[in-house]
Amino acid sequence: MISQNTVTKLYNDILGFPDHGKVASYIPELANVNPDKFGVFLKPVYSEGFGVGDFEEKFSVQSIAKVFLLALAFRKKGEDLWERLGYEPSGTSFNSIVQLEYEKGIPRNPLINAGSIVMCDILIDILENPKEDFLQFVRKLAIEDDIQYNETIVTSESKTGYTNNAIVNLLKAFGNIHNDIGEVLDFYYHICSIEMTCRQLAGTFQLFANNGIVPHTQERILDISKNKRINAIMQTCGFYDEAGEFAFKVGLPGKSGVGGGIIAILPHQYTVAVWSPKLNSKGNSYKGMRFLEHLTSETVSSIF
Ligand code: GLU
Repeated sequence: MISQNTVTKLYNDILGFPDHGKVASYIPELANVNPDKFGVFLKPVYSEGFGVGDFEEKFSVQSIAKVFLLALAFRKKGEDLWERLGYEPSGTSFNSIVQLEYEKGIPRNPLINAGSIVMCDILIDILENPKEDFLQFVRKLAIEDDIQYNETIVTSESKTGYTNNAIVNLLKAFGNIHNDIGEVLDFYYHICSIEMTCRQLAGTFQLFANNGIVPHTQERILDISKNKRINAIMQTCGFYDEAGEFAFKVGLPGKSGVGGGIIAILPHQYTVAVWSPKLNSKGNSYKGMRFLEHLTSETVSSIF
């Protein structure tokens, strides 16, 4: 079992390292965050867990929320989901368009922007009130009601989302978006704008470490096969074109977001959330990556 002392020591070590990252500024509102924030929360399955640093402060989870979107879409659509998108790593950046053109509008995987935008379209067809129903789903996984969309971030991203506009238009041209593109993007931006603390994030991801069951309520959200597949997708596609590097250095399934958060999962053992807003050149938290690399190496707790 990893102790709080070990996590605190690693946190303090990484805190002292020079941080060569830069806060994301292509969504203007994200640039307003204090770049020196750094929080960690580790939650063993079926236990309360512990945090260090800014672990009770909310931040924009951004692409991390794509995993909740995948869980809900996969739960509702089953294997039919794969008629509209793939599950192979893209090897390209989160908002790349090139692949989408030569693969005729079928996104490589659910965790790049194109894949998540298609999942939003799918859920708009299925859910009665997509934004409200999605938020309720996340609150159920978190076992907390204090989780909201941030409308200021939604507005900020909608005003500057030129690349996502290009993606949704290309998808529509290939027939892989059925609804109004404005409605689809609005849903997508809301999902990305969710704010959580490291403690909430580690809690919300517990089901993925626990065969698809939320530990503290015993509710089964995903069957074992779907849960296994979502972990596999996080492992191979969770870090944009740095998924190989994350597997190589950290060795856990996980997902990052441009808000500087990273969640990682050691199946049957624990979930760990890290937040530090400065990003490396691939869009992943610079300190977060280093912290997790040290954590899994020093405690010998990766899946490999
Ligand atoms: N909302 C962000 C975008 O669409 C998400 C990017 C990310 O966190 O990777 O650009």
